[in-house]
Amino acid sequence: MTQAPVLILLGPPGAGKGTQARMLEEDFGLIQLSTGDLLRAAVAAGTEAGKQAKAVMEAGQLVSDAIVLAILKDRMAAPDVAKGIILDGFPRTAGQAAALDALLADAGQKVTAAISLEVDDEAMVGRVSGRYTCACGEGYHDEFKQPAKAGVCDKCGGTTFKRRADDNAETVRERLKAYHDQTAPLIAYYGGKGVLEKIDAMGAIADIRKTLGRIVAGVAA
Ligand code: AMP
Repeated sequence: MTQAPVLILLGPPGAGKGTQARMLEEDFGLIQLSTGDLLRAAVAAGTEAGKQAKAVMEAGQLVSDAIVLAILKDRMAAPDVAKGIILDGFPRTAGQAAALDALLADAGQKVTAAISLEVDDEAMVGRVSGRYTCACGEGYHDEFKQPAKAGVCDKCGGTTFKRRADDNAETVRERLKAYHDQTAPLIAYYGGKGVLEKIDAMGAIADIRKTLGRIVAGVAA
């Protein structure tokens, strides 16, 4: 039996993981699983996990593997993930990568591809500082991706937008450090498993979408 695709998007904050994951959802009918979104929902709902995660997220540091794994396992128990998933922002540590392998192995599955979005750190500070999101989840940027009609979401017509508490220059630098210290080593980890793809993610969103689409079509067919 061929398994549904399990794709991982690796890259620092601002690399475009969320934007591209949403496009892959549209293009391939896959499900985006963002641990950042799941954690923000837990914070907003005031759950025990959310209470513990809040200050850590605001400081730009990584939430504990235990909390992140519990939240992810919960989400992966839902039936829609059978369509195939794009992991956005997970795994972020060696421990999370090992736990993911074990979770997939239990279901007779493995990672289909880990795609590293390669970018320049300095550009990420500007990218992250200017971004905002519609209540429907569609992402925008003050400079790089404005809605066609100012103040109105292209996707849903909504007019309520928000900015993340951790999308400021100071916190982004902390998040970049966490990425290099704890997450970047996963590039070699997936390289060793023969499932790594690297793409230049400094270009236009539409061009990166095409490049990613070609890779995903190749591995998810
Ligand atoms: P993101 O939306 O992926 O940029 O994540 C926002 C914040 O949530 C991060 O800076 C971390 O504090 C936390 N977070 C998200 N995913 C993880 C993860 N896999 N492991 C640890 N912390 C995470």
